[in-house]
Amino acid sequence: MPDPLRQVVTDPRVHRRRPGPPDADGRCVVYWMQRAQRATDNPALDAAISVGNALRQPVVVFLAPIPFYPHGNLRHYQFLFQGFEELATALARRHVGLVFRFAPDHRIEAFADEVGASLVVGDENPLREPSVWRERVAARLRAPLWTVDADVIVPSALLEKEQYAARTMRPRISRLLPQFLAKPVTSRARVPWVTARRVQSRLPSAQIPDAFPVGRNVSPVAGVHGGMAAGRAVLRRFVRHRLEGYATGRNRPERDGTSQLSPYLHFGHIGPRTVAVAVRDADVPAADKEAFLEELIVRRELAINFVRFNPRYDRLDGCEPWARRTLDEHRGDVREYQYAEAVLEGAETHDPLWNAAQRQMVQVGWMHGYLRMYWAKKILEWSESPEAAMEIAIRLNDRYELDGRDPNGYTGIAWAMGGKHDRAWGPERPVYGKVRYMSFASTGRKFDSKAYVARWLGDGERR
Ligand SMILES: Cc1cc2nc3c(=O)[nH]c(=O)nc-3n(C[C@H](O)[C@H](O)[C@H](O)COP(=O)(O)OP(=O)(O)OC[C@H]3O[C@@H](n4cnc5c(N)ncnc54)[C@H](O)[C@@H]3O)c2cc1C
Repeated sequence: MPDPLRQVVTDPRVHRRRPGPPDADGRCVVYWMQRAQRATDNPALDAAISVGNALRQPVVVFLAPIPFYPHGNLRHYQFLFQGFEELATALARRHVGLVFRFAPDHRIEAFADEVGASLVVGDENPLREPSVWRERVAARLRAPLWTVDADVIVPSALLEKEQYAARTMRPRISRLLPQFLAKPVTSRARVPWVTARRVQSRLPSAQIPDAFPVGRNVSPVAGVHGGMAAGRAVLRRFVRHRLEGYATGRNRPERDGTSQLSPYLHFGHIGPRTVAVAVRDADVPAADKEAFLEELIVRRELAINFVRFNPRYDRLDGCEPWARRTLDEHRGDVREYQYAEAVLEGAETHDPLWNAAQRQMVQVGWMHGYLRMYWAKKILEWSESPEAAMEIAIRLNDRYELDGRDPNGYTGIAWAMGGKHDRAWGPERPVYGKVRYMSFASTGRKFDSKAYVARWLGDGERR
């Protein structure tokens, strides 16, 4: 086996889903791009290029957006599609081709046969649906399928099992980080993909075709643009203007002091390594960098670890036994307020802070992280059962947040409602039992909640 090929095979980021060596007589290496929608800082693309170069074969990216992802709607798809236009040019700079197709031509197996793939490379996504698709494709492909952990810094396989909490995750991450947190290198394919091969492709466009049957019940967010260039611009602005002060300012929802990079990370328009290296190398106090890298690496990769190793990540029975027990004991407690999902969705509760947070999410597809905790905990308090609360929170989060349908979302909700990665707290309270509680009074005192409420509800709606 040539050395570069051996390097790819032994890389802990690489999973051989359909094992076997790439076919030296194949015509090209195909990268089936799903989660990591970018041309740089993309370890899956790098692996495809390394194999292509070792075999002296060109590399082509196959991109086929599908309209039926659960809870996906126009808001998400517009952001996703906005990233497509610049991809072709950015890939061409690496001498890599792009073939863009819709259903019924969206099957990777058929495409791999059509172009004589020696190997199909994919990118990892720990969520249930993409995992099932990956398994199905692995069973049907003729070529081997290797998938690459492209959206974490520390390969998730090296963490071996579900981690109990940030305190068990942190030492493992710290030990492995120096090996994996390096500035991404951008190599080129030695044999360029030649488009004259007559392989049919649509022109990648930000325009969602009318016939693309995506749910149109949630409108796109005006003024927010998806894509690699937009993601890099958001990162640049954050590092320049808001990283300094992040350690103390990040829990001030009225100030927008966080990066707002979560939609770009979710859609793979920016890689976590690019973000981490920019922050690590910034000229700001160490405390601000550490606070940010704790969220981006320890917390984010803990969420990915949870979803990867716990198949019940979106259900209460995926949470710790102590939390399930205490919630069970308080199942029959009187709920002072109980709201139907439609009332919550319409931001019509008695609580102006909660309504403002809900309104922020519905209007701009993003909610401040501090308020996401409060938002989910109140849904637990105001629902008929913890199970119903979790289902409602997941539905609303996934429908409206641009960064929804992400391991971070399922983990955040499991943390808020089911004590995941948390511990038992006293005193025991109605409904919550020993699950950590947040009150309107104490949450509202920690920042200028009046300014936040006025911003999202308007003065007329403050109660
Ligand atoms: C109930 C609840 C629901 C959530 N839903 C989502 C969701 O759907 N999608 C989502 O990406 N995040 C979710 N989070 C996690 C977190 O609140 C957001 O990632 C963060 O607020 C996004 O804003 P930012 O990019 O400005 O974060 P920054 O503070 O700038 O942090 C940078 C990055 O670090 C990661 N990060 C930050 N906080 C956390 C955290 N607590 N856990 C894991 N990773 C984190 C994110 O990738 C984030 O983009 C949720 C948290 C809770 C409590």
